[in-house]
Amino acid sequence: GQCVKVCPVGALTEKNHVVELNQMLKKREKHFIVQMAPAIKHTIGEEFFIAPGTDATSKMVLALKKLGFDRVFSTDYSADVTIMEEGTELLQRLTEGKGKLPMFTSCCPGWVNYMEQNYPQFIDNLSSCKSPQQIFGALAKSYYSKEMNIPVEDIFVVSIMPCTAKKGEAEREQMPEDVDMVITTREFAKLVRMNRIDFAYLGDDADYDSFMGKGSSAGRIFGTSGGVMEAALRTVSHVLTGGQFEKLEFNEIRGFDNVKETSVEVGEHKIKLAVVNGISSAKVVLDAIERGEADYDFIEVMACHGGCISGGGAPIPDNYDVRRRRMEGMYRFDTESDLRKSHENSEVKALYENYLKDPCGHKSHHLLHTTYSDKS
Ligand code: SF4
Repeated sequence: GQCVKVCPVGALTEKNHVVELNQMLKKREKHFIVQMAPAIKHTIGEEFFIAPGTDATSKMVLALKKLGFDRVFSTDYSADVTIMEEGTELLQRLTEGKGKLPMFTSCCPGWVNYMEQNYPQFIDNLSSCKSPQQIFGALAKSYYSKEMNIPVEDIFVVSIMPCTAKKGEAEREQMPEDVDMVITTREFAKLVRMNRIDFAYLGDDADYDSFMGKGSSAGRIFGTSGGVMEAALRTVSHVLTGGQFEKLEFNEIRGFDNVKETSVEVGEHKIKLAVVNGISSAKVVLDAIERGEADYDFIEVMACHGGCISGGGAPIPDNYDVRRRRMEGMYRFDTESDLRKSHENSEVKALYENYLKDPCGHKSHHLLHTTYSDKS
């Protein structure tokens, strides 16, 4: 109520959630699984005096195990699944005329909310694909539950996310209760401190648990502006050219410019792309499309300038220099990775072989896609 509006909101709500989760983990009443968004790996270190951009995956995994999570998984994995679904959806819109163009990405709830409230006329242009957070939750409560033989009601899914908009996303009326609790990067740091875990001194060799833990570096760069688009291009171009198109890096759509544009020729298709970096630029691009002055096939929009590395739940201070180092850390991880394409992720391949069958098929349509509503 009123208090929440006047008090330092963050402090109040963060504390309650963290205390509640801490108690639940101690009681061990559920099977706790956790996912962490791509951006967190390159920002969380800052809370413990580690340089911005440093990949703190191993320390995070070890801290989460100490906190009592049964399985430590990653949203990079479900970002790869997002690419399989959203890439297929884009191909259907481009080559089969199934749905409107341009298609907009739907992984940022800040952007989805903005469109529903201000530009509902574009709702059919929004990818029907759920965000990586929600895809993870949906798979945890179906695929994971079934394959591991753990009843859905025993599974408690926690997300560590870069912003509070992700809390709202998990509570959307269109979303089943797949994600049970969302905490931000800073809330996670509080949980670690509350349990007196010496984060900076944890080891550097730990990795996610298998099954829903493996992510490609394409899934990882989802955490920065241009990354979703680049990840999609790696897979869509592979499909359109039967694996002949080998370009992996798309420098034109990286970085901090407000609107980044490029076009890519793959096979007989020329795909026109735009990346909208920050919500204030969305209006410029949407108005230009309405006036018939802009012509794109696929548009990525992230509400935060720089993408999720700049999310409202990220460590403070959060200035341009820090954001740039986080972004560099993410691309460094990509350059050094042996797995740079979502469709080559073996755990994603297993998901389709053993459970979903086809991207955008019957089962994934039911589990991994959603709808939007006019909230103007
Ligand atoms: Fe949240 Fe910002 Fe990322 Fe959107 S871009 S999901 S608002 S952190």
